[in-house]
Amino acid sequence: MKLSEIDATLREIRVSPVKTLGQNFLHDQNLARWIVDRAELTPEDYVVEIGPGLGALTQFALDSGALVLAIEKDRRLADFLCKRFTTDRFEILHADALDFDLRQLFAKPRVKLLGNLPYYISSQLLLKFTKYPSPISLWLLMLQKEMARRISASPGTSDYGALTLIVQLHYRVEYLRTVPASVFLPQPDVDSAFVRISPRAPDELPDYDAETFSRMVRRGFSQRRKQLRNLLREEVPNWKEAASVIGFDPRARAEELALKQWIALSNRTRSADLSVATQAGLERLPVVDDQDRLLGDAPRAEVHGNNLRHRAVHILVFNQLGELFLQKRSRWKDRHSRLWDSSAAGHVDAGEDYDVAANRELSEELGVAANLTRVAKLSASEKTGQEFIWLYQARHDGPFELARSEIECGEFFPTDVVSDWVKARPDDFAPGFVECWQVFGPGPSDVEALVPSA
Ligand code: SAM
Repeated sequence: MKLSEIDATLREIRVSPVKTLGQNFLHDQNLARWIVDRAELTPEDYVVEIGPGLGALTQFALDSGALVLAIEKDRRLADFLCKRFTTDRFEILHADALDFDLRQLFAKPRVKLLGNLPYYISSQLLLKFTKYPSPISLWLLMLQKEMARRISASPGTSDYGALTLIVQLHYRVEYLRTVPASVFLPQPDVDSAFVRISPRAPDELPDYDAETFSRMVRRGFSQRRKQLRNLLREEVPNWKEAASVIGFDPRARAEELALKQWIALSNRTRSADLSVATQAGLERLPVVDDQDRLLGDAPRAEVHGNNLRHRAVHILVFNQLGELFLQKRSRWKDRHSRLWDSSAAGHVDAGEDYDVAANRELSEELGVAANLTRVAKLSASEKTGQEFIWLYQARHDGPFELARSEIECGEFFPTDVVSDWVKARPDDFAPGFVECWQVFGPGPSDVEALVPSA
């Protein structure tokens, strides 16, 4: 919309822009088109737009053929957009974007986030919508210039800080352009900037322990002018040696260390847990025939290398809402690393039976005990990696103590989201889970019936 059209529309729908809702409407059509072009949208994309306002960006996103879900807090604007865009590729949600349940987006094929964010909550929105792991593949955001500079900053600059590193640990941030206040009606008090955020490639950075990293970074930047050795000496034994190996001045301040140096430093702390899973050749697994009768046992590598039939357990843990806990396998797993999987799963060891293995896996991987109920047995096949699998279910609300070497993170998901997600993006999952979920195949009400009370 041009300036005159925005003016006329606001009068027609009797809306005067609300400052406390950050209502500054973009009237530069060329800029709006340029912003949406940066998303390289196709009809395969699912766009989530935060704060569509009068639809300045929405219009161009819809022109691409993509599906658009727009989240608008102001009912008057939501009603207006509902009338303005009548295509069934457009959905308007009258809601506060801070309350939006992101988990539903995992079930969408390819999600891109677009928004000229309301500035009064832009940092909260940014942190919420970039929380790792994220179902979003690209973020295109208009922010206050100051915030855009902070998240895209380079080492040695005054904008470089804890927020920079916490965002950049998972994402690449590009500051694409500064946007003057004059392209908005009404004009905001500050200039804006447009950034593009994209996920880092899986092996782009060395291994790190995210919790230790962010604790170190926050502490390091808590007093910017202080030398790091005075803030972190307790955490890092032998500070001088660490500085020399990592390649920074032992008297450096927080802003002088680049992302990879921060990772290296946090890996030298006493608490960093980078223990690679001890899943190598020592483990012996039972080898079975096509009826699951025991033939003997063999080292794990031989079992997998020769495609021998063996045994495994999968446990599906549901909370009181009937949501399923999924784990994301760690980067250190030699098979299916970084894929989503059953709540807990693992091999039956030599000399062990299925029930014992299931209880052991639940305790080792999630750090809890629970009543386990057998659900079904899956035959060994190519799809299960030649594993006979006993599938169990349990009820537990967490919290869990995740085995960090095995599991990167985990989360409860509504079962309909899981079903849609498996359908839309089966490659996000370890194949054994896909097989188990097909057998389990619940609708939400079935889960309630199946899950035993705690
Ligand atoms: N995208 C439009 C544009 O470029 O012209 C409007 C951008 S304006 C800066 C921010 C929009 O976010 C407004 O429409 C405002 O009503 C909406 N908004 C404010 N707070 C919100 C919230 N918590 N959740 C969703 N939308 C919100």
